[in-house]
Amino acid sequence: VIQTGTPEHVVKTTCAYCGVGCSFDAHMRGETVVKMVPSKDGKANRGHSCIKGRFAWGYATHADRVLNPMIRDRIEDPWREVGWDEAISFAADKMRGIQAKYGRDSVGVITSSRCTNEETFLVQKLARAVFGNNNTDTCARVCHSPTGYGLRTTFGTSAGTHDFDSVEHTDLALIIGANPTDGHPVFASRLRRRMRQGAKVIVIDPRRIDILESPHMAGGMHLPLRPGTNVAVLTAIAHVIAAEGLYDEAFIRARCDWDEFAAYRAFLLDPRHAPEEVEKTSGVPADLIRQAARQYAAAPNGSIYYGLGVTEHSQGSTTVMAIANLAMMCGNIGRPGTGVNPLRGQNNVQGSCDMGSFPHEYPGYRHVTDPETRRIYEAAWGVPLSDEPGLRIPNMFDAALQGRFKGLYCQGEDILQSDPDTRHVSKALSSMECVIVHDLFLNETANYAHVFLPGSSFLEKDGTFTNAERRINMVRRVMSPKNGYADWEITQLLANALGAGWDYTHPSEIMDEIAMTTPSFAGVSYDLLDREGSVQWPCNAKAPLGTPIMHVDGFVRGKGHFVHTEYVATDERTGPRYPLLLTTGRILSQYNVGAQTRRTANSLWHPEDVLEIHPSDAENRGLRDGDWVQLASRAGATSLRAKITERVAPGVVYATFHHPQTQANVVTTDNSDWATNCPEYKVTAVQVSASNGP
Ligand code: SF4
Repeated sequence: VIQTGTPEHVVKTTCAYCGVGCSFDAHMRGETVVKMVPSKDGKANRGHSCIKGRFAWGYATHADRVLNPMIRDRIEDPWREVGWDEAISFAADKMRGIQAKYGRDSVGVITSSRCTNEETFLVQKLARAVFGNNNTDTCARVCHSPTGYGLRTTFGTSAGTHDFDSVEHTDLALIIGANPTDGHPVFASRLRRRMRQGAKVIVIDPRRIDILESPHMAGGMHLPLRPGTNVAVLTAIAHVIAAEGLYDEAFIRARCDWDEFAAYRAFLLDPRHAPEEVEKTSGVPADLIRQAARQYAAAPNGSIYYGLGVTEHSQGSTTVMAIANLAMMCGNIGRPGTGVNPLRGQNNVQGSCDMGSFPHEYPGYRHVTDPETRRIYEAAWGVPLSDEPGLRIPNMFDAALQGRFKGLYCQGEDILQSDPDTRHVSKALSSMECVIVHDLFLNETANYAHVFLPGSSFLEKDGTFTNAERRINMVRRVMSPKNGYADWEITQLLANALGAGWDYTHPSEIMDEIAMTTPSFAGVSYDLLDREGSVQWPCNAKAPLGTPIMHVDGFVRGKGHFVHTEYVATDERTGPRYPLLLTTGRILSQYNVGAQTRRTANSLWHPEDVLEIHPSDAENRGLRDGDWVQLASRAGATSLRAKITERVAPGVVYATFHHPQTQANVVTTDNSDWATNCPEYKVTAVQVSASNGP
């Protein structure tokens, strides 16, 4: 619903959709949003926006929102609406009882990349300081956890290296496993502008993405690889650079360990990494691999941007490290126009990772076994803390099925829809004695919940989001919480019902605690953010106004680290029953599982999910454009409509995943990244056949 009327005042805030982090001026009439206008002084968007941030905020006042807490003893029972006091003490009693019966480690939390930094900080603090374990994980587990592992291993910090402004200086952008036009539209327009000025683009992706169709794409190149072969192709590109001596020896000698590079070069020169060999595995013609390698190495400033098509693989972390290797060997780090830049999917996925949501790391990526870090938090929180890494989300499900994990507090994530192997997740949730869902809507996970705590939208609270370029943006309350409380207050109520004694009166006090305990945030305060608009971490005594570009004079870890990136084929194989490879992605008007965008007029643009299929594969199956098809894998089956297109190669199909009736994750496997357990959503062997619909 678009509100009308003359605005009375304007509040500056931040879009709650993707990791670009656009600033908006909310034009208000009383407590009603009249319009959202992209801020001209927003440092990430400079007056631009897409149709999600500009128009898709009406979900905040949608009739589907649940505004009163609800409880029930068994998931078979109907919900009982209760007051906040009763709901919170019911939840606290259940969690306390579970810990008394099954032990300290039998409960845990899942934080949300949709919520603010301050809210996320409190949820992980609840696990560590109140439950007394490190069973905290985040929905970043299923998207960018390999970025954290890969960039920390190679560069020393779990974040993208450059600001978005940097794209204005790039001469060549290598885009792998990302579709900026749909996923990060404002960044895509900045990239297009640079392309109009002559920058080249190389796309490594199974699907021909929109940016390649731009009229000014004279310098564009597409490497259409088979899903699952990223590491093989990137290592072949590095092979060509090594074999032809195109690497930046001066940079490597100055910033990395030359002997280590020499060993890496010997690894690369093995004939199994040659383009002709990799063509057999990946399907990418050898001469395209060679051209891509020469172009990236020759660009004065070459940048790399990547998305979930890199991370959501069994070799997700290896792929991130292969990307980092390429940037280091060509000296493409530390200058404007270069760098390794993950395009983060959710508005605060960077922030939720920064805030210590992972079971092995405190805020600022410090390991739970580090005694010095533990001492800092024990002093700040006044309780002893565990040095034992906790459970990741998939391990929570496994432990639940083994009877060891019985209580879960899940804030702002629909794990049933968004995690892989839906049946496994539903069995695990069914086996728990207390599932607390804290969300705006009764989502699919809530079917397995005993407590429903109504959440507040981004329009109803103060706080901060951190975007893909490490920029900490202010989120400002434009209306009072419809449910009575902002999310950080609800977590505080639960913690205090469990005896915590927290007394935060405003999120700025939570940020002060973050700054006091986290070196990379030491200089951050609401005063600074109000004054500067936003800052990029690290922000501390060394960089009082933040750090747009990292690793300028040296890597955070000291010397850059080259990792030998051996290609290991995924366990997921095609065969006679499942001859096609499925990959998935987003569309411009919709967002993830669609909980928000489906409740706005944006749903008119994309009312149902589609399966893209090549004309030859469609013809073999007797399919016409728009037909219902069954998509079946070894894990399960679903139905959606076919869209016949040459964007995908023969043998590859591509599905969107925004609508619950599709439940695309019923077909995905339980394969995951070897280092981080990030699910392999981007490679599933499937069969497609005609169907009569769902
Ligand atoms: Fe900007 Fe992303 Fe929001 Fe679109 S969805 S307005 S690109 S932050």
